[in-house]
Amino acid sequence: MKAGLMQSTPLSISSILDFAERAHGRREIVSRLIDEPLWRYDYAGLSRRTRQLAQALRRLGVDAGGAVSSLAWNTHRHLELLYAVPGLGAVLHTANPRLHDDQIVYTLNHADSTVLLFDRNLLPLVERIAPRLTQVRTYVMLSDAERHAAGSVGALCYETLLAGESGDLAWPRFDENTGAVLCYTSGTTGDPKGVLYSHRAVVLHAMAESLASAFGFNAFDVVMPCSSLYHATAWGLPYATLICGAKFVLPGDRMDAASLHELIVSEGVTFTGGVPTIWTGYLDWLHRNGATPGNLKRLTIGGSAVPRVMAETFQSRYGVQVLQIWGMTETCPLGVVATPTPSLAARGEEAMWDTIWTRQGRLQFGLELRCVDEEGNEVPRDGSSSGALQVRGPWVVQRYYRRDEDAADSHGWFDTGDVATLDEEGFLRITDRKKDVIKSGGEWISSIDLENAAAGCPGVKVAGVIGVPHPKWDERPVLIIEAHPDAKLTRESVLEFMTPQIAKWWLPEEVVFSTVPLTATGKVDKKALRERYKGLRLDSAG
Ligand code: ADP
Repeated sequence: MKAGLMQSTPLSISSILDFAERAHGRREIVSRLIDEPLWRYDYAGLSRRTRQLAQALRRLGVDAGGAVSSLAWNTHRHLELLYAVPGLGAVLHTANPRLHDDQIVYTLNHADSTVLLFDRNLLPLVERIAPRLTQVRTYVMLSDAERHAAGSVGALCYETLLAGESGDLAWPRFDENTGAVLCYTSGTTGDPKGVLYSHRAVVLHAMAESLASAFGFNAFDVVMPCSSLYHATAWGLPYATLICGAKFVLPGDRMDAASLHELIVSEGVTFTGGVPTIWTGYLDWLHRNGATPGNLKRLTIGGSAVPRVMAETFQSRYGVQVLQIWGMTETCPLGVVATPTPSLAARGEEAMWDTIWTRQGRLQFGLELRCVDEEGNEVPRDGSSSGALQVRGPWVVQRYYRRDEDAADSHGWFDTGDVATLDEEGFLRITDRKKDVIKSGGEWISSIDLENAAAGCPGVKVAGVIGVPHPKWDERPVLIIEAHPDAKLTRESVLEFMTPQIAKWWLPEEVVFSTVPLTATGKVDKKALRERYKGLRLDSAG
């Protein structure tokens, strides 16, 4: 083989920032803070302040090979950290403030971070866990000087640190496989597992995400991430948006419908995204207030299955196209995106949307997906044969942080823990997480399909389905519904609504009206539901 004769410039996160400053330095960034006025600047300003931050971090002893943690919301300061720390060749661990204290402590110690930067309203949390942090030497509050509080941890002030630096720094060059951002999975079983994204993975992922077959931003877009910056870098949006030159709007820690609506309308947001629960609340709010979502054109939803009725309502009532995505912390996180194709369009509008709204997404260049049976053989890509979903590619985990064994097999295939089908046009449909599948009478029932069917019933806010042991059938589905406050729902009305949509033997054995607990990443907490209903007795008559 002959060697290629082109340059081997390493892919780096700092190159995105340098590019954004030069190519669209005047494009705006708007950031809602905890209790400071709305912050506005542009990419040139972001670039300058990020260099100042990098200098300040160096002064605090952080340099190539070091590690820093954040406990922070979706603000411009967190965005600066997402560039400054990797820019130095150090690792930014974005801790999830919604996890249990023990898990936060575990991840901070496991990440070996020496500096912890946190938002002002998280001071009580930081003070509480500080005595258990083994490596952190310096605490920094993400605050202006006026509102700064050192607290019992003697926190330094972020803005004071930045003000002391010139911003005169050239980003160092290093290998593109250097670790950049460390994200932990929620750890529903065992300790949280760390996934260390490399510069190469982050840049390739952001470029793939920017393609028209995925999010396809252009410079006229106004992008607002409502997935958390601490959860798998808000789906890579802080990187893809800078590549495309779109305006970036950061909603802080307020994801309630009224606060989001205010920014969507006043800042002209065209593209936003987050987990389904945020949008259930927003749809309900729009309806109750007779409001429309301004210039919003596209809404990307993932993390859990998107109820079909949600996608349909956004499109038919408000002209907003829902792009469902599937992914996970281990895939940086974007895996597939549900975008239309000419062959689907040729079947007519109705058939096209029918396919798109019932699939998680379509293959994107860069990632390979396959479904395998219990013997590890690939099942046909026919849209109906299901199997364990495996994935491989340049932004898929090879090994969890500080573990001795690879997470992927010797051919690079990583088992996602999901059960899915793939079809001949590259569409993926998740039927369940392996551990959530309900085994009834030797057959499988998809809890996702049942939740989806129930979610369409007017008055249902959130629906969760779990398998409960049954003397005759092994397991039977139990549906837990959290209803909107003024809804009039009964067991019979819900079951009647679901009946035409599913096989008769799939119908839930029991319907319970109660609150539905959510995980730290906004998904229905099936573990908590199983624990709550473990004593439920289903009789053998059903
Ligand atoms: P956590 O469990 O910490 O929230 P992830 O965000 O990595 O971790 O969760 C990834 C999992 O979320 C996937 O393996 C899949 O089960 C589920 N998921 C993500 N997107 C979707 C979707 N569009 N439909 C159904 N399930 C999804």
